[in-house]
Amino acid sequence: MTSTWVEPSDTATALLLLGRGSDPATERGVECPGELPPPSDPDLVARAAVAKAKLGQRVFVLGHHYQRDEVIQFADVTGDSFKLAREAAARPDAEYIVFCGVHFMAESADILTTDAQQVVLPDLAAGCSMADMAALSQVEAAWEVLTDAGVAEMTVPVTYMNSSADIKGFVGRNGGVVCTSSNAKRALTWAFERGQRVLFLPDQHLGRNTAVLEMGFDLDDCVLYDPHKPGGGLTAQQLREAKMILWRGHCSVHGRFTLDSVNEVRMRVPGVNVLVHPECRHEVVTAADRVGSTEYIIKTIEAAPAGSAWAIGTELNLVRRLALAHPDKEIMFLDRAVCYCSTMNRIDLPHLVWALEELVAGRVPNQIAVDPSTARHARTALDQMLALP
Ligand code: SF4
Repeated sequence: MTSTWVEPSDTATALLLLGRGSDPATERGVECPGELPPPSDPDLVARAAVAKAKLGQRVFVLGHHYQRDEVIQFADVTGDSFKLAREAAARPDAEYIVFCGVHFMAESADILTTDAQQVVLPDLAAGCSMADMAALSQVEAAWEVLTDAGVAEMTVPVTYMNSSADIKGFVGRNGGVVCTSSNAKRALTWAFERGQRVLFLPDQHLGRNTAVLEMGFDLDDCVLYDPHKPGGGLTAQQLREAKMILWRGHCSVHGRFTLDSVNEVRMRVPGVNVLVHPECRHEVVTAADRVGSTEYIIKTIEAAPAGSAWAIGTELNLVRRLALAHPDKEIMFLDRAVCYCSTMNRIDLPHLVWALEELVAGRVPNQIAVDPSTARHARTALDQMLALP
C-alpha cells in the first residue's frame, strides 16, 4: 500500500493559525525591525544560500521539527528544542546561532552556549503561547500561596523545557529541574525523591499524562492551579493533599485534538494506529495507541512496517514531512482541519534571508540574550536535567 498525503481543510480558523492574520491577545506584537524582502522575491532561495555560504563556519542554523520546509532546507541540524540547544552548545566555534524555532528555545540556546556566541531569532514575534501562560510574577505569587498553605518546603518545582528563561531560573533557584517530553518521568521520579509533591509548569497535560499514565498516580492526586484566580482557585487543604499541582497552561496546537478526532479516524480507517504527543489532552492520550515526544514520533514512523496506517496528533509541518518521506505507509493528520503552530510559522524564508544578510553585513539582528543572573539559575535547572539518572 502506498499513501497519498491529503492536506487537512484550510478553514477560516486555520488561516489565522497559518499566520496570515494575527491575534493580539495571544501573540507578542513585536514587529521585525528591518527591511524584509517580499515573499514574492523569486531569488529568496538563492539569496539565503549565498548569505549562508558567505558566513561559512561562522554561522550554525538550527531548525525545529515544526518549522516550514522553506526554512528547514537551510538548517544544519533539525530536532526538538532540547536536541537543538545541545547541538548549539556543541558548536563553540560558531559565532552566530540562527535559531529557527521560538523564543524560549533561543533563550535556552543562549544559556547553554558560550558568552562569545550570539543567538539570533529571525522573527521576534515567534513566541510560544504555552510559555507565555506562565509569567514569573504569576509563578512567584503561586509560590507565596504554597508558602502560606505550609506546603512550599515539601514541593519541588519542575518546568517543561517550553517555558521562559525566567521560569527556568525560578525553578533553579528553588531546587527544581527542567524536563522535556522525553524525560518527564525521570524528572518527576527525581523530584518525588526530594519532596512530597511537584509544582509542574507550564503544561498541565504533560504533567497529568506523565503522572497518571507513567507514574501510577490517580487523576485525583492532581489539582489545577489557575493563576487568574485568587489562591489559584484552590484551598490550602487541596494543596496539602495534592501530589501534582499542575499549572493551568497548555499548547494551543496539541490542545486542539479531541477524543472525537480519535474516534472519527478509527471509524474512517480500520486498523489505524493513533500516535500522539503528550501535550495532548488526557482523554486523547488515553485513547491513543502510542504517545511520545516529537523524536519518538519520528522514530516510530521510521520503524513502522510498510503498509501500516498512522494518524498522528502533532504539528502539521512535521506530519506532512513524515508522510512525504514515508510513501510506503499511510500517514494522516489526526484532525480534519489545519493545525500549524502559528508562531513557529512566523519564521519564513524572508525573515531567514533578512537575518543571514544582516549577519553578512556585520550587524547582529534580533539577538536573544538572557541576563546573567537568570541564565545562571536557569543553567542550574538545565544541568540538573542533564544529570538525571
Ligand atoms: S507547538 Fe505548542 S508548545 Fe510548541 S511552540 Fe507552538 S504553541 Fe508552543
